[in-house]
Amino acid sequence: MKPILPLFVFIDACGWEIIRHDPFARSLAPNRKRLDSVFGYSSACVPSILSGAWPDQHRNWCYFVYDPEHSPFKLLRPFQLLPQKVTSRRIFRRWLSKSLKRPLSFRGYFDLYNIPFRHISLFDFTEKKSPLKPGGMNRGDNIFDFLERRGIRYHVSDPDQTELANMEAAICQIASEQIDFAFVYWPDLDGLLHRVGNKSQEIPLKLRLYEQRLERLLAVAQDHYEEVRLYVFSDHGMANCDIHLDLKSKIEALGLKWKEDYVVVYDSTMARFWFFNDRARQTVMNCLNQVHEGRIIPDQELKDLRAFFPDRYFGELIFLVKEGVLIVPSHMGERPIRAMHGYHPNDPQSYASLLTNQPNIPADVTAIPHVFNLMTRDAEEANRENAKPRPPTFRNQRLVEEMT
Ligand SMILES: [Zn+2]
Repeated sequence: MKPILPLFVFIDACGWEIIRHDPFARSLAPNRKRLDSVFGYSSACVPSILSGAWPDQHRNWCYFVYDPEHSPFKLLRPFQLLPQKVTSRRIFRRWLSKSLKRPLSFRGYFDLYNIPFRHISLFDFTEKKSPLKPGGMNRGDNIFDFLERRGIRYHVSDPDQTELANMEAAICQIASEQIDFAFVYWPDLDGLLHRVGNKSQEIPLKLRLYEQRLERLLAVAQDHYEEVRLYVFSDHGMANCDIHLDLKSKIEALGLKWKEDYVVVYDSTMARFWFFNDRARQTVMNCLNQVHEGRIIPDQELKDLRAFFPDRYFGELIFLVKEGVLIVPSHMGERPIRAMHGYHPNDPQSYASLLTNQPNIPADVTAIPHVFNLMTRDAEEANRENAKPRPPTFRNQRLVEEMT
């Protein structure tokens, strides 16, 4: 039996609005708080949680950027000769993304999504390392660098394994009493929400399943640690997409030339533009100002959101749609999906959640990067307490008596 285990369980997309009216984990983690998310997709939110930094600091923001010089995708250009019917299929894209990870030495999450092969050599992919590993940030350190530097032993989920396999691995390490910190990552709710939306009956069912798992995890932890500090948290919420916006057709109707005048990445809720002359910039801006499903985000607002990059690495102009609008077709998908995230962090469905069995959540924990402060604080405390020599417990004393 060890004194303290900080147990951090990250449930992707388990937003505040998802659990607000649901008794999710009430008996295990009754203290709940709404957290601000980070502007961007999971590619921005997860690294922010793991590093305590914001996108303008760690530079993990959107996946694809215009950077022909550094593009690792030149070898994919011949794929443009295949019929689009094949190359736009999700199953083909998933298979190819998986096969490319090793040759490209990508260590994190990688998906080609729906980037057309005739343009792909213009783009670089920005998450080449895994934020769930030490040294995994584009800039700065993450929690795993912090733990390793201090020699704090920990468990972390392997994103290539299933949720259940990861839970079993966590249970094994907790039962061995060899760790002072555990980080469990469950990504499946995100996929389910994208598919069925936030009003589906499948969502509360999934939450009940997570509750059972949390109960089991907590029970094992409590058998081996006197105090288990449980934190269940998310990176963002999920909004149903009821309006589809074909922004690509509007931009292509302007008569501008791709690569000569402009380049754009259509994310599912954002369009990020790079311009090669002022006429193109003005033409696109005039067009976007007429699109009432979204708006151009001014630089000052990007700065306030901590997602402004002075070198315009992620795009010179950021157009963001209103919550509930989906840009489709986009470079993320050819066909609509039921729900999406990556809207403005102040939109109702964007908020994340933090649930804990700890009586106090510090007042300065208000946004997802602040979860990092809880992780470092509790990991250090657990490491300190767990290392102290302990008076023999009742169980140990019996053993000693039996042996003598
Ligand atoms: Zn998602």
